[in-house]
Amino acid sequence: MNPYLNDFPILQEKENGRRLVYLDNAATTQKPLSVLKAVEEYYRTENANPYRGLYSLSVRATQAYEDARHTVAEWIGAGDDSEIIFTRNATESLNLVAYSYGLPFLREGDEVTLSVLEHHSNLVPWQMVAKAKGVKLNFLYPDASGRLTDEEIEKKITPNTRVVAVTHVSNVLGTVNPAAKIIDAAHRAGAVVVLDCAQSIPHFPLNVGELDVDFAAFSGHKMLAPMGVGVLYGKKALLEKMPPFLTGGEMIEYVYEQDATFAPLPQKFEAGTPNVGGAVGLAEAVRYLRKVGYDTIQKTEAELLAYALQGLAAVPHVTVYGDKTGARDRCGVISFNVDGVHPHDVATILNEDGVAIRAGHHCAQPLMRYLGINAACRLSLYFYNTKEDIDIFLESLKKVRGWLGYGA
Ligand code: PMP
Repeated sequence: MNPYLNDFPILQEKENGRRLVYLDNAATTQKPLSVLKAVEEYYRTENANPYRGLYSLSVRATQAYEDARHTVAEWIGAGDDSEIIFTRNATESLNLVAYSYGLPFLREGDEVTLSVLEHHSNLVPWQMVAKAKGVKLNFLYPDASGRLTDEEIEKKITPNTRVVAVTHVSNVLGTVNPAAKIIDAAHRAGAVVVLDCAQSIPHFPLNVGELDVDFAAFSGHKMLAPMGVGVLYGKKALLEKMPPFLTGGEMIEYVYEQDATFAPLPQKFEAGTPNVGGAVGLAEAVRYLRKVGYDTIQKTEAELLAYALQGLAAVPHVTVYGDKTGARDRCGVISFNVDGVHPHDVATILNEDGVAIRAGHHCAQPLMRYLGINAACRLSLYFYNTKEDIDIFLESLKKVRGWLGYGA
């Protein structure tokens, strides 16, 4: 029995009369009771618009929000709380960098290096910058096992590269990109690095100070917190010289009829009423993850990943993409297809057995094209999954071709 399962109320629910087998954790994770309670408690006892009010309740809401910022800063090794910008999600964090760093500081002839593994959220904003500023986009391509080689990194980061924007973990192949090597190559070329940590921070520690990364983006909802709160970490010196992204209330100092001056960090990048309840939930998620411990998370997921890969290898007519060995530089995400069956049909049939997996292009269409496919099924694990979940998944998967009239 997984000791964490009972902490997650939704995992006790039934789906189509069966126990819910939730294997879509790369899309969003489920929420433990402690996070649900923390959010409820905030709204029951501390809710007010922060910063503006001079009454005690507003002061308490401000304190709760700033405490959450401090918890996140400490957790990812940021040097200063003001380097933590609360956003809605990783997508908004990545757009913030593209709009407030890419547009003002890049010019024609500059280059941005991405990987073909990027989620659209870390690609389309840079296409916008490229078109607006005449910047060239270079792409890192993985080898057959889904990995970015040293040679590829050295080749694609050039003296003209000004920004390297890469995902830490592929949301399709689960491979962990060599962040330290990429950051080293980028800094040698005089470029800044934007690390998309949406799929890494739920599974292994991030220390922005040790990595010396310039920007890091992630979403709360993929690491047990509510939807609607995300984080952008940025080095203070960079954030300070960047213009605001969104403008309006909360982010100003003085406003005149024709002009305005801006608040110091982090408020300069947090226009409008913030999601205090979300931030409180995120801080509680951090405390919960700390209690479980990344060692346990990694060990549990590695075992489940090996078990799932082994099980899938024994199902006829299944193709798994990327690494099939469950190597260490790999998270619990497996993309696969079943011969002759559209991924949407696979997911729909599995749903009959209460199994939730993802099917589609996974917001990574260039990678799909690179793999020579239009879409794939994706199973993604978290530490609350069990071997029984994978057994149910595999049994259900074995029935798929039969349902559609294929013989063995
Ligand atoms: N980057 C990666 C690698 C992702 O997997 C995702 C979510 N699928 C995102 C960015 C975007 O996250 P969000 O939708 O929470 O902004």
